[in-house]
Amino acid sequence: MQYEAVIGLEVHAQLLTESKIFCGCSTKFGAPPNEHTCPVCLGMPGVLPVLNQKVVEFAIRAALATHCAVAGKSVWARKNYFYPDLPKNYQISQYELPLAEHGHLDIEVEGAAKRIGITRIHMEEDAGKLIHDPAQGHSYVDYNRTGTPLMEIVSEPDLRTPEEAAAYLKALRDILVYLNICDGNMEEGSFRCDANVSIRPLGQEAFGTRAELKNMNSFRNVQKALEYEIRRQRAVLDDGGQVVQETRLWDAQANKTLSMRGKEEAHDYRYFPDPDLLPLVVGPEWVERIRSELPELPEAKRARFVEAYGLPHYDAGVLTASRPLADYFEAVVASGAGAKAASNWIMSELLGALNAEGKEITQSPISAAHLAKLIGMVDSGAISGKIAKKVFGEMMLSGQDPQAVVEEKGLKQVSDSGALEAVLQRIFEANPGQVEQFKAGKDKLMGFFVGQAMKETKGQANPAVLNELVKKLLG
Ligand code: ADP
Ligand code: MG
Ligand code: ZN
Repeated sequence: MQYEAVIGLEVHAQLLTESKIFCGCSTKFGAPPNEHTCPVCLGMPGVLPVLNQKVVEFAIRAALATHCAVAGKSVWARKNYFYPDLPKNYQISQYELPLAEHGHLDIEVEGAAKRIGITRIHMEEDAGKLIHDPAQGHSYVDYNRTGTPLMEIVSEPDLRTPEEAAAYLKALRDILVYLNICDGNMEEGSFRCDANVSIRPLGQEAFGTRAELKNMNSFRNVQKALEYEIRRQRAVLDDGGQVVQETRLWDAQANKTLSMRGKEEAHDYRYFPDPDLLPLVVGPEWVERIRSELPELPEAKRARFVEAYGLPHYDAGVLTASRPLADYFEAVVASGAGAKAASNWIMSELLGALNAEGKEITQSPISAAHLAKLIGMVDSGAISGKIAKKVFGEMMLSGQDPQAVVEEKGLKQVSDSGALEAVLQRIFEANPGQVEQFKAGKDKLMGFFVGQAMKETKGQANPAVLNELVKKLLG
């Protein structure tokens, strides 16, 4: 039997506000346990939540960037469940009337474009953190994270392969990071994904029963977990069994998913509107103001880099991977470098060197202006491409101006024909056989002579001048 997978993702993104969603406590990570708490986020009786406006603004940014309709009125709901990381025994979320609905996001997999529907975006508060100590038989609870603002983004079941799921996640992450509303760190859990997956016989319209996968903390793991789960469900069906609706945990060590619990139903949570919070009313003026302040998003930037700079799609994709990297590229070009040369230097030399040192583009020892100057020196023939790489290495170490490096290290290109003639004469004398063959018409030996001369001059000779000289002297 041939099957097709159906996948829908629920993403929880931690919003980069300074304070929590319903109180003034700090959201800073890394404080001693329970330091960033107050009666509100500890759920003391009689306290009242006050909504953080920034949270709403950030969520509206995400909604607009993913083409959602922002609701004029949305409602806060209590999602009730008992667990020690949730001091109120309910989580304030949005349920029946979320902030935004009906959006979409375009992805590309193996050159094919596809539009993935976004069902809804809503805001909610995060729970605390439990730390288990099995050796002592104790569990600890840290409420610092309690009340940290989250945004949940639910996709339509439009994804069909694990690759599409990974592409969707990456595209979504890039957008949120570009918008400056989430740091997008999957490993640290500020960008988390639950993956819902079912399979159906190819050609069948109705969806199969889904499993919900949790505990994947990288794009790679989301993809691997989905691949495993699709195989597992296929084996169940092929054996004449039935997939049960449940929540399964990805075990990255064992490379498989394990059943955690039966899937809870919405009615288990006894959702009801939170009587402590007014409905959230968002006027069109506010939405339009936020829309007008949106930055250029990755997709638009990519298209502009191809269009305006004539870059290949591949280059545009690499250079727009982050806003600071794209800004750096544009600064190099603005300082006078050709776009393709700038792109080549950044992609092959700079990113490689930064990566080796575990540095971000914002920590580059080489400023955009200096890189542009280096490229200009190659263009003008002041230094060869080979020497330029040497100069680049020095610039990585010292952050110096390329001109200064060239002068200090005596790396200037030698174009003086008198000096180069002397070098060539020495090479001719040492290689009489090659000289004879060249004179007899073996033109390929040009490369040999130029290569030897470059070696002698440690790459500083101007190859074009060498070419001319060999022709003149042996012609
Ligand atoms: P819940 O909170 O119960 O998991 P949500 O509506 O928040 O429900 O999320 C459901 C997710 O599961 C959505 O991303 C949706 O696209 C996806 N989904 C729904 N039905 C299926 C199915 N049969 N197979 C795969 N994914 C599904
Ligand atoms: Mg779910
Ligand atoms: Zn608090």
